[in-house]
Amino acid sequence: MAGRFPREFKVDVLERTDIVGLINARVPLKKAGGIYKACCPFHDEKTPSFTVTPSRQTYHCFGCGAHGNAIDFLIEYDHLSFVEAVEELAQQAGMEVPAGGEGSGKGPDLRPFYEVLEQAAALYRRQLRQHPQAHRAVDYLKGRGLTGEVAAAFGLGFAPPGWDFLLGTLGDGAQARERLVGTGLLIEQDGKRYDRFRDRIIFPIRDRRGRVIGFGGRVLGDENPKYLNSPETPVFHKGRELYGLYEAQKSNRKLKRLLVVEGYMDVIALAQFGITYAVATLGTATTTEHLRQLLRCAPELVFCFDGDRAGRDAAWKALESVLPLATGRQQVGFLFLPEGEDPDTLVRREGRDGFEQRLRTTTSLSDFLFDRLADQVDMANLDGRARLGTLAKPLLDTVPSGLFRDMLGTRLADLVGVARNRLDSGPGSGRGLARRSSVQNNLKLTPLRLAVSILLQYPRHASRVSDLEDDWRRMDKPGIRLLAGLLELIAAYPSITAATLVERWRETEDGPYVQRLADPNLLADRPPEGLEAELEGAIDALNKEVKDIEFEQLCNRGSTTRLNDDEKQDVRRFRCDTQEDEA
Ligand SMILES: [Zn+2]
Repeated sequence: MAGRFPREFKVDVLERTDIVGLINARVPLKKAGGIYKACCPFHDEKTPSFTVTPSRQTYHCFGCGAHGNAIDFLIEYDHLSFVEAVEELAQQAGMEVPAGGEGSGKGPDLRPFYEVLEQAAALYRRQLRQHPQAHRAVDYLKGRGLTGEVAAAFGLGFAPPGWDFLLGTLGDGAQARERLVGTGLLIEQDGKRYDRFRDRIIFPIRDRRGRVIGFGGRVLGDENPKYLNSPETPVFHKGRELYGLYEAQKSNRKLKRLLVVEGYMDVIALAQFGITYAVATLGTATTTEHLRQLLRCAPELVFCFDGDRAGRDAAWKALESVLPLATGRQQVGFLFLPEGEDPDTLVRREGRDGFEQRLRTTTSLSDFLFDRLADQVDMANLDGRARLGTLAKPLLDTVPSGLFRDMLGTRLADLVGVARNRLDSGPGSGRGLARRSSVQNNLKLTPLRLAVSILLQYPRHASRVSDLEDDWRRMDKPGIRLLAGLLELIAAYPSITAATLVERWRETEDGPYVQRLADPNLLADRPPEGLEAELEGAIDALNKEVKDIEFEQLCNRGSTTRLNDDEKQDVRRFRCDTQEDEA
């Protein structure tokens, strides 16, 4: 998508943007000499280590390593995509977005569409308070336990009965009617036009910037269908939009988790009970585009499905579409509800605590993957296990190469009972997303490098490592010494900053290596919230690696010399260890 604007345009936009003003509008800054400071919006802290440098037009946090220009800031802070961020800045700078971008000279100007949708949303909201028939809608909402506050937060409204409410209020003039048709608010048939939404509760659907782009309507009478959505229009694309995402981001500065549910009422009922991080797709299956957005917004994603057969099949579809995006950076889980329940009924009965208790018992992506495949074969015999390999292989091949894929591969190998390298299809088999920034830096992020890089940039995560096994210390590799040294230094000075760590190694043999691994770009495409888990994963991988190496050494010796009894026991223990790790 980065290719959508000419390069000069991006440069131009940045030239005309003042990063200090941009950030100050969101995070109040204090002047300190030639720079500005604030408590970092990307990690929790009490003393400011977030700095903005006007002369360079960049921001940098010495605590967590967040770093970048105005575009990066909008992507991180407002959760915009690259294109959206450039458009936002261009708009603020009063610049015309070039062809291909929104509102450009070549494509249709969409602003009138957004305007009329906004007007319609306001009218519907007013009807919910004023229309003589609105009590039926209000009764329904109250009956579902919703307060006026939540109704207002989601901008709920009421479309009165009759065929021409919007036509009569907003349809003055041919151009206005054209817009109403273009946004799907009016239906045009046999030369006649009439309101699409009639006698329904109205759920405005907003895009990530909060603009109304369409509506959902729930029937009050007997009309079919029960739920009705705006059709696809130039501003509304179902495969891209998620109901509730804007509201979730608005009520959570830093989303720790997103919950994908089925309907509008689920999202709103959950919000009513304080679970303000649910989103729903708009009557479509979860698309890759949905998943990209979701994974970018939060470090944990939970799919909520019915526990029945249909629910499990739908969950499997979601799993298949999430695998090509699964890097292990985000945690992906599945929550299966008891039969006959949906999130709306469940949260009303169990409350927030009860529901969140369930969220602690989700099925992980890899468990769901292997359990479901194992159900299809007979794991008790060799043929069955071989078949598991055959079933799993094409799925694992869709996972981007990297740590997570390696872990899935190891687990499959353990389940199937064959050596890891027989399952691997060799170099270059990894499809999917390349690790963009790592490639630019020409540094492949091995588990060891990843661990060092995270510790250099987020020293506070070191405490996590002390709880883990430290078999990795036995490994004979240059980077291991550095990793151990880093942990030692951070343990001695728990509040040490990233910058100081780099300084400490500057004049040493490892200096240039440290410098490269401290580059914020290396971790730029990983959400900071997920890094602690990634560090843990990297250490786990190192522990496994050392066992593999030692095991192999033992086996090699076994073929030339005879193993003594202790060593034989070691071999057995290694085997058990590996299996337990995966259990
Ligand atoms: Zn920070």
